[in-house]
Amino acid sequence: MPLTLYNRLTRRESPFEPLEPGKVRMYCCGVTVYDYCHVGHARAYIVWDMVRRYLMWRGYDVRYVQNFTDIDDKILDRARETNSTMEAVAERFIDEYFVDMDKLNILRADEYPRATHTIDGIKRLIHELENKGYAYASGGDVYYNVRQFADYGKLSGRKLEEMQAGASGRLETAEIEAQKKQDYSDFALWKSAKPGEPAWDSSWGKGRPGWHIECSAMVRDCLGETIDIHCGGSDLTFPHHENEIAQSEAATGKSLANYWMHNAFVTVNGKKMSKSLHNFITIRDLLDGNWSGDLESNPPSPPLVRGGVRMKARSQKRWNRWR
Ligand SMILES: [Zn+2]
Repeated sequence: MPLTLYNRLTRRESPFEPLEPGKVRMYCCGVTVYDYCHVGHARAYIVWDMVRRYLMWRGYDVRYVQNFTDIDDKILDRARETNSTMEAVAERFIDEYFVDMDKLNILRADEYPRATHTIDGIKRLIHELENKGYAYASGGDVYYNVRQFADYGKLSGRKLEEMQAGASGRLETAEIEAQKKQDYSDFALWKSAKPGEPAWDSSWGKGRPGWHIECSAMVRDCLGETIDIHCGGSDLTFPHHENEIAQSEAATGKSLANYWMHNAFVTVNGKKMSKSLHNFITIRDLLDGNWSGDLESNPPSPPLVRGGVRMKARSQKRWNRWR
């Protein structure tokens, strides 16, 4: 029986045909490493582990790559709060990520690229975009010229006119960015250095990469210009995945991924479980309680607390605060 996949790009189920017979190149957007993973992360990576294992069971030779975002405002904030460094915070939560995922019996990826280890590839990609007229330098930053890419919006279905500025990070950063952009829809590929923050040398001055370009560069470095399956959470469809497509496809003139797959969320009272909403339960808290990462050994009728999940005091406190 042929394998069919739901492809977000075409919005249809279609037979799966890998680029190379018998082989699958798969990339999944990983976590930003500034805290413990919660149940929402568990769900996401169990989904992709299942897809990967199923492909392996079907006989495919699967190469699975998942990144760590190890430079981000949230990591820098955590480093400041704890009197630590970005590197130390990232290193610690990468270790904690593996502890949790191992307990859930999730297969390790073939490769875990990190944004800070991909700076050369990122700079190369930005230069290519600049040379092809898709990017422009402005005040130490470099921006992607969204209106230049005719296919923009093909994954998310959004029209340029409906979009608000996709600025990420701190509010003051967004305001400064807005003054440097040629158009509200443009997004940062390279951000000029701020005092006290990690920065790398470049022809645009000292700075650091934007989030979206990191994944485009890591996909290319680890798997090549076109891959079979790109996956991630459905909240990443826009702007993250849309921007990845714009960057990679403008640079190479080739399709970034032939199949785009997204996992849905764990919701709490209709809202996405997330760190920013403080409505989360960590994997650690769950597995320290009555639950095991191994489905077979869980009690048949676990005692129900609110939301159907047993919570430890720490999670319960967070939960109550959120409610
Ligand atoms: Zn990504």
